[in-house]
Amino acid sequence: MSAIHHRACNLCEAMCGLAIEHHEGRVVAIRGDAQDPLSRGFLCVKAQALQEVYEDPDRLRHPLRRRGSDWEEVGWEEALDEIAARLLAVQARHGRDAVAVYMGNPTVHDYGAMIGGSLLEASLGTASRFSASSVDQLPRMFVSRLLYGHQGLLPVPDVDRTAWFLVVGANPVASNGSLLGAPGISRRLAELRRRGGKVVVVDPRRTETAAVADEHRFIRPGTDALLLLAMLQVIFAEGRSRPGRLAAFTDGLDELAGIAARFPPERVSAATGIAAGEIRRLACELAAAPAAAPYGRVGACTQRFGGLTSWLLDALAVVTGNLDREGGLLFARPAVDLVALGSRFGIGPAEIGRHRTRVRGLPSFGGQLPAIALAEEIDTPGRGRLRALLTIAGNPVLSLPDGGRLERALGGLELMVAVDLYRNETTRFADFILPAAQALEQDHYDLALHLLTVRNTARYSPPLFAPSAGVRPSWRILAGIAARLDRGRRGPGRLGAGLKWRLLERLGPAGLLDLGLRLGPYGDRFLPGSRGLSLARLRRAPHGLDFGALAPRLPALLATQRIELVPEPLRRDLDRLEAALAAPLAAGGLQLIGRRHLRDNNSWLHNSPRLLSGGDRCTLLMHPDDAAARRLRHGDRVRVRSRTGAVEVPLAVSPGVMPGVVSLPHGYGHGRPGARLRVAARHPGASINDLTDTELFDELTGNAGLNGTAVAVEAVRAPDDARGPEEPLRPAGTPPAPG
Ligand code: SF4
Repeated sequence: MSAIHHRACNLCEAMCGLAIEHHEGRVVAIRGDAQDPLSRGFLCVKAQALQEVYEDPDRLRHPLRRRGSDWEEVGWEEALDEIAARLLAVQARHGRDAVAVYMGNPTVHDYGAMIGGSLLEASLGTASRFSASSVDQLPRMFVSRLLYGHQGLLPVPDVDRTAWFLVVGANPVASNGSLLGAPGISRRLAELRRRGGKVVVVDPRRTETAAVADEHRFIRPGTDALLLLAMLQVIFAEGRSRPGRLAAFTDGLDELAGIAARFPPERVSAATGIAAGEIRRLACELAAAPAAAPYGRVGACTQRFGGLTSWLLDALAVVTGNLDREGGLLFARPAVDLVALGSRFGIGPAEIGRHRTRVRGLPSFGGQLPAIALAEEIDTPGRGRLRALLTIAGNPVLSLPDGGRLERALGGLELMVAVDLYRNETTRFADFILPAAQALEQDHYDLALHLLTVRNTARYSPPLFAPSAGVRPSWRILAGIAARLDRGRRGPGRLGAGLKWRLLERLGPAGLLDLGLRLGPYGDRFLPGSRGLSLARLRRAPHGLDFGALAPRLPALLATQRIELVPEPLRRDLDRLEAALAAPLAAGGLQLIGRRHLRDNNSWLHNSPRLLSGGDRCTLLMHPDDAAARRLRHGDRVRVRSRTGAVEVPLAVSPGVMPGVVSLPHGYGHGRPGARLRVAARHPGASINDLTDTELFDELTGNAGLNGTAVAVEAVRAPDDARGPEEPLRPAGTPPAPG
């Protein structure tokens, strides 16, 4: 007789409620939970991978230790003891900062790993902390820190009530929402249009979201900030600025108007590829809409001007009165309020630039250094060089720009330790791989992602299965190393540290979660008889709890009670944008952008047979005009070259990508020797990050510029069948070619 287990899917930000039918330790079926207040029964095909990863014969089920080019199984205590001793020895020889930590994107979907990872970083005492944030959403957090006073105050587009949804460099139909918890986004967009609203997509590619939108505009990679400034110029010049109640607590509206005046549509039209008249119309429509939600994501962040673009999207919302308004952008009120809790426990707004990378002097944000610097900090000789690396649920060889350089650098470390489910393209370089329990073997609560949902909800998921023999919950692994580091260090703090570990062991992440819930906005505050929230109450609600639609929260939410609309670092960065606009434009080159398919989730799920089924998705998209100019045909095998590397992939000729732009999906590049991902190896594709460039980045935030890499494309042919000279490559970061 099978049973039903209810839980939230932890694979993406949508957090869909699942009803998992299981029998005798095996998953029978995974369906959507119709009673989940956020997802209302929706789930996507990726949820099936929860079962496939759980059952995957390639998943590690024992700690591994390197022996030359081979691996041996090792007991947990022996592994953790040896790792801690070797980490301490590296720090004794080279200094604390010689040990780096890299947290991969899955860490944010595992609250135990978030807690354990923070503890481990504290015990290491290293400033060499990196994460996937700086190849992703860092510019968005950076802007929130400057405008609203805290990096965790992230405005959410109110897609369920908006009348005009502007989507810049985002593809929620494929991602199911990012920095936007909106499961079933296709259904929500259809509802938006049914009630008379409009969806406008601005993207160099006709994405899956563009396909269901009312309007799509191609834009040259890296020029979104110019478009947004021109829209602001129109709104101010035509007297359409109506910040409403926001004006009472917003500084800098006049200064913003002065800045925007420098960027009329006619000035940016050639660079963006959008006609001045179209920019004017878009600006007027947005300003006239009863409620509008400007939203940008990966394409808006992972480019040369990620900070400026993120800022100007919010500025559009402020100027038109759409920030903190129903149907515009709103701030969620999560049950565990990390922003408020952080303030209570002395963890406040992120620092900016307290630390600098050794080689290029790139600034830290929130205690983390830009991940684009990881390889150079390992392979550049000299004092302060990184000598050991600990990765947590990360695959930076495939996810960081110029992954080839990182791949070469990793082999030169004195010690590498990986906490991971697999021996993947990165962890194959490790001296130890420590297998964490899989999602179904751990309890789950989305600690960070409830900050981003379109409704205020909470959902706790107990483990479905006990961890397989030989694996451990991620928090226990990380805390195990941290406790040994503390014990191994001489000097003050040893006694206190011992108590800390005993307390953590006793409480576990669930105990800390209970604390967060009870002190949160819906919490019982530990008052006897209170009907407020606690973990016990949440456990009794297997479908989760609904705390209602988002509502205006400003200015009370702001640390200073005011919005600083034109912070100095952003104002200064406009000089860089001006310089890019004024620079001579190179003609004829191609700019590379990424893309994502509904069945892909970075590189995480590429060992799932179900998700990898179907045709080869790792193709290079190219516009027919560009293909004709190069005498290339659909299906040709092509070589794509950049300053940093070259890959070979099949060509897909399509009018769905802008002329002058080509697109490759990210997360591929499998089949490398030493990895054990046998399904992925049968569908290896090529890594876009063998082409991307650490020299192309957002100088304001340090974030990677994954979109806009200059590339050349040629047919892969026999030597006697060459088609002429290769195209010249522009250096990374040169401005886009005109249309
Ligand atoms: S949309 Fe995201 S959370 Fe929902 S089922 Fe798919 S992967 Fe899971």
